[in-house]
Amino acid sequence: MKASKILITIISIFILSNVLYATLQSTSISTNGKCFTPSGDLKVLFIAVRFGENVDTTIKIDPSLWDAYKSYPENIYGNKIFYSDYNMFNLSVDSARDINNISQWYYVMSDGNFRLIVDTISVIIDTMPPTEIVINSNVFGNSTHQIYNKIVFDTLANWHADPKHPFDWGNYDNRCYPNYVQDCSNNDYNFPIDSIIDYVVVCYRWSPITGNPPTAVADVSNWSDITSNYKVQTNCGFTQFRGDRSIFGLFIHEVSHTLYGCPHYACANDVVGNYFYGQVGGWGAVKLSEVSQGNTPFMTANAWERWFLGWIEMK
Ligand SMILES: [Zn+2]
Repeated sequence: MKASKILITIISIFILSNVLYATLQSTSISTNGKCFTPSGDLKVLFIAVRFGENVDTTIKIDPSLWDAYKSYPENIYGNKIFYSDYNMFNLSVDSARDINNISQWYYVMSDGNFRLIVDTISVIIDTMPPTEIVINSNVFGNSTHQIYNKIVFDTLANWHADPKHPFDWGNYDNRCYPNYVQDCSNNDYNFPIDSIIDYVVVCYRWSPITGNPPTAVADVSNWSDITSNYKVQTNCGFTQFRGDRSIFGLFIHEVSHTLYGCPHYACANDVVGNYFYGQVGGWGAVKLSEVSQGNTPFMTANAWERWFLGWIEMK
């Protein structure tokens, strides 16, 4: 054998053994997270959807929650519910901005290891009901939120394709998809990134037109757009149908379902099986959505969750 051939053989064996080793090592670890790894920096896309003046102005909800003429729910303004910039974690605590703030909540719960910020964008669906909807049944089913989410994502795809419009899906694909088997907390070593949008929330202003939907569902629909090459994966986000309700509690609640398959503690249903038994006084991340009903004493994750997500160590 020539020296070069021997070298190639050695390199091949080295690569193969590493591939096998990596395969053997790819076991599920809860701290990697399912939809995203809950450490490092994550930018979430929050899409606030209204239905146009003709419809919105007829919907009677408290304008201090989401006024018909405002692009977003009221608590989006002034970074009262999310931070929009990583620099905000360095500011001294301001109660008006930081109490009941989701970015601050994750930052504190993770002991400073997880910085979640949110970009908000406003979309108006002003033809209701929509005149034509072409649904690919392989991608979309026909439940209400999937139909409306498709309209929203198609709108954003058009914006993305229009060079005059500043919207870029690429701003929201900074990480790989962990599915528990890989650490996607840092995008530096995961290039090329996977074209799956990291996490997206579609939040509708409440409307009787969309029927009588649940408050929120822990999926955002599968959607792919061949023009921009980005896709939304159904468990990398959630859909909220009543934007006037508590975004703070619901956000953390739905993220918990999608991040680590967290079931309800309050006997509401068995989202991922009957792992917990009902306890009205219990607390944890999915209980936060019940704060407004006075059913939980603490607005905190519980110790098990913080350990399971890698936010604290067992001592
Ligand atoms: Zn739930």
